[in-house]
Amino acid sequence: MSDKPPLMIEARGLCKYYGRFTAIKDVTFSIRQGEIVAFLGPNGAGKSTTMKLLTGYLSPSEGSARICGHDMKTDRLAAADRLGYLPENGPLYHDMTPRSLLEFFAETRGMPADRRGERIAAVVKLCDLTTVINRPISKLSRGYRQRVGMAMTLLHDPDVLILDEPTAGLDPNQIRDVRQTIRQLGETKTILLSTHIMQEVEELADRIILINDGRVVYDGPREELVGDSTLEQRFHELTQRDAEPDRPEDVAEPASA
Ligand code: ADP
Repeated sequence: MSDKPPLMIEARGLCKYYGRFTAIKDVTFSIRQGEIVAFLGPNGAGKSTTMKLLTGYLSPSEGSARICGHDMKTDRLAAADRLGYLPENGPLYHDMTPRSLLEFFAETRGMPADRRGERIAAVVKLCDLTTVINRPISKLSRGYRQRVGMAMTLLHDPDVLILDEPTAGLDPNQIRDVRQTIRQLGETKTILLSTHIMQEVEELADRIILINDGRVVYDGPREELVGDSTLEQRFHELTQRDAEPDRPEDVAEPASA
């Protein structure tokens, strides 16, 4: 047996077809306990689709997804117990208040009654929701709605977090707060997060998985990807070239540019 940390997120040969359109193809990677991994790719590359397959919100056309060793297809409830998923635009119920929403989720998730109060208090504190806890979600700013989404994601104290663009649409101060929370969470949890912000990747993640046109085109250390270039430049190169694979000049590139 190896003494490496356990595998917490596994994508094995994941494919998703919408009719004849291939959204993702053969997506395979695994993430070990304690890693914070950035999931990058241009719009439409397949990040959200992959995340939905990993979290069981969609079923794969082929392949399998596992969370903490639990197969999403056959062992979904056990996997869901260990997993927190923040979808792209946050699933929010606008008529409810953060308190009623968190209470509702604690109950429907089957959290024991004696644990609910303590967990709600913990996420309200972590996500800084005290001042808005009884206000309708429809009246909250985007930044606060995002925090409510994060509080829901963290409510059952999951070991694995899958966060789909957690800072999209936030202002610089809100972005800083969310990043700080993610960094703090990364001390105890395994995290896969998608983002378009290169600075965020540099601040948060040591490893990058880059997807283009539904296929993984890089999976490895951030430093190795960047080399003596910049992350932005490498992103551009890897997502441009694969996007236009048929041009003959892409096959025989000059040795130096
Ligand atoms: P990303 O998150 O990287 O922007 P997505 O995973 O949302 O990419 O989308 C990947 C591809 O799959 C895109 O071309 C998108 O238009 C397509 N797609 C996503 N959802 C559907 C759907 N329900 N029906 C058809 N095509 C879809």
